[in-house]
Amino acid sequence: MHKIDEKLANVTARLRRAAQSVHRNSEDITLIAVSKMQGAEKIREAYACGLRSFGENYLQEALDKQTQLSELSDIEWHFIGPIQSNKTRAIAEHFNWVHSVDRLKVARRLAEQRPEGLPALNICLQVNVDAESSKAGVSLDELPVLAAEVAALPGLNLRGLMAIPAKSDNYDTQCRAFTEVRNALQQLRTQLPDVPLDTLSMGMSGDLEAAIASGATMVRIGTDLFGARTPQTPSKDFS
Ligand SMILES: *Cc1c(COP(=O)(O)O)cnc(C)c1O
Repeated sequence: MHKIDEKLANVTARLRRAAQSVHRNSEDITLIAVSKMQGAEKIREAYACGLRSFGENYLQEALDKQTQLSELSDIEWHFIGPIQSNKTRAIAEHFNWVHSVDRLKVARRLAEQRPEGLPALNICLQVNVDAESSKAGVSLDELPVLAAEVAALPGLNLRGLMAIPAKSDNYDTQCRAFTEVRNALQQLRTQLPDVPLDTLSMGMSGDLEAAIASGATMVRIGTDLFGARTPQTPSKDFS
């Protein structure tokens, strides 16, 4: 088993190479360490390697780890998992970013429940780019209306789009899906010229290169940083 610093060096090298290949500056791409199902000590280790942005999918598990890591006050927490509307208050209170907003009801609740003393909550709308019926995300058809509604809510800062395309090992297939997401963001910029839409959250361990070649500004990497995930018995979120 490699330690996190070695894995991070590998991921960073891949990220840089992918950026260079399309003449992008790798500093314009944020690496989000996806720490779901990894213990707080792994986050501490990644933090010591310089990582500051962490992505979590399960609310209760995330809150437990945030409590254990409360002294690491400059961590930026990203909620990237499915959102049940009865969980929005804790998400609005304890995260800096939410990548998985795909319906107005959830956005409205996050807006209402974002505490007044905190900066606006950064939001990405999750798009179901391959129109998979089993998957979360707003369809590309419904995206323009949802984006306009979310952009108008106080307490939220609409930043861009997030997508998890259908799994494929083929680079061109990966690029095709990511390019559709990028084009959708470009259209939103025309539709909503006053909204600073600067974020494309796309790319995971298996498709990081294609995502960066297609314009990703945030990549969400779990397995290739932390190794395989093992269920954490004490803090599983069964709800
Ligand atoms: C788990 C997860 C990731 C990380 O996936 P890896 O393949 O482990 O890198 C990224 N994004 C989301 C939304 C996830 O749920």
